[in-house]
Amino acid sequence: MKPASTTDARLVRAFFLALAFTVHPGMLHLQHRLEGTMTDSPLNSRTAIITGSNSGIGLGIARSLAAAGADVVLNSFTDTADDHALAASLANEFGVTARYIKADMSKPAECHALIEQAGGCDILVNNAGIQYVAKIEEFPQDKWDAIIAINMSSAFHCSAAALPGMYARGWGRVINIASAHGLTASPYKSAYVAAKHGVVGLTKVTALEAAGQGVTCNAICPGYVLTPIIEKQIPEQMKTHNMDRETVIKQVMLARQPSGEFATTQQVGGVATFLCSSAADQITGTTISVDGGWTAL
Ligand code: NAD
Repeated sequence: MKPASTTDARLVRAFFLALAFTVHPGMLHLQHRLEGTMTDSPLNSRTAIITGSNSGIGLGIARSLAAAGADVVLNSFTDTADDHALAASLANEFGVTARYIKADMSKPAECHALIEQAGGCDILVNNAGIQYVAKIEEFPQDKWDAIIAINMSSAFHCSAAALPGMYARGWGRVINIASAHGLTASPYKSAYVAAKHGVVGLTKVTALEAAGQGVTCNAICPGYVLTPIIEKQIPEQMKTHNMDRETVIKQVMLARQPSGEFATTQQVGGVATFLCSSAADQITGTTISVDGGWTAL
């Protein structure tokens, strides 16, 4: 069930649509602003596709956008009953339409198919990502290719498929999930750092091409967020440094994060939702760090 306030918003929309046709098209802007103030669900006419969203940050963003009223499309490369149940639970919790669409973000054709199968979108969150850690001279070529494809090229392919619809509707948000590693580097993460710097560059180009068409593009750069991608690195780091879990977290992982705390998926979701608000209409082509001060060092 949509919240009751959406009924008021629908009445406002109908009233101003009628007025716009009889009086002046500028009334449509006023209608849009009034709706935003009257409803708890400012994104309730929007559809969001979030790549790589059956766990971690992607799921946190999907939850935050759904809480703001957006219909959401979840995605990963698997197609399990749990994936579809996750979408059903979001629909149930937030009173929105939520679907799960399988598409492998390492494959350009599947990136395009995701956007087409969803029927386009108003909000595209390019979030899917993987990690592999090794010295450059020992870095397996297939891992390099996979990280570049999933973490960077999929953002290009999904954006290419989604932007024409956004331009046609005169409104859109592309949010690329980069990383503190899109702005700085660490040893042994060559593919990841290269891909994330590439995502930041792609963000700027997308913003410039979209400027003046109601479409913005920005990158969120999280520091460490405790999700499965990070959980997987903890045992390796414990072995490498001969430390217990808590010491690895404090002295190795969070050593670069001055707050000494992980960022959370809810915080990243909140920033993504802010970027979809009208307050962010003029924020484009930039990065927003959610890193406890990492990149201020
Ligand atoms: P995660 O492992 O929980 O999420 C990764 C998501 O991508 C999962 O849903 C996974 O199924 C999906 N995915 C992986 N390969 C895919 C493919 N081929 N096709 C489609 N989906 C695929 O990790 P996370 O931390 O939530 O990572 C999400 C994004 O945030 C990534 O781009 C990551 O680089 C970025 N990030 C994470 C952190 C962190 O500390 N967790 C920090 C900065 C940036």
